[in-house]
Amino acid sequence: MAEDFDCAICQSRVDMRWSRYRHDGPIAPVCRRCETYYGRHRSVPMAGAFRDRREVRRGLALSEALRCEAAQQKWRQADARA
Ligand SMILES: [Zn+2]
Repeated sequence: MAEDFDCAICQSRVDMRWSRYRHDGPIAPVCRRCETYYGRHRSVPMAGAFRDRREVRRGLALSEALRCEAAQQKWRQADARA
């Protein structure tokens, strides 16, 4: 039974009340929107089981979100020095 959770990327609350019955519903710890947005990556495999590809996409989404945050902090520091 899937519990409600807070997205690890955008921190929004994910309501699993209806989503748990959907095969394409959100899977903790990333909401569907972040999974789609940050998971757009060419290394996501085109072959393999649907569920396995989503596992890969969620991992990529998490690493991509971290990379974006790190880049933003780097630029903010560069701005502060200028
Ligand atoms: Zn999210």
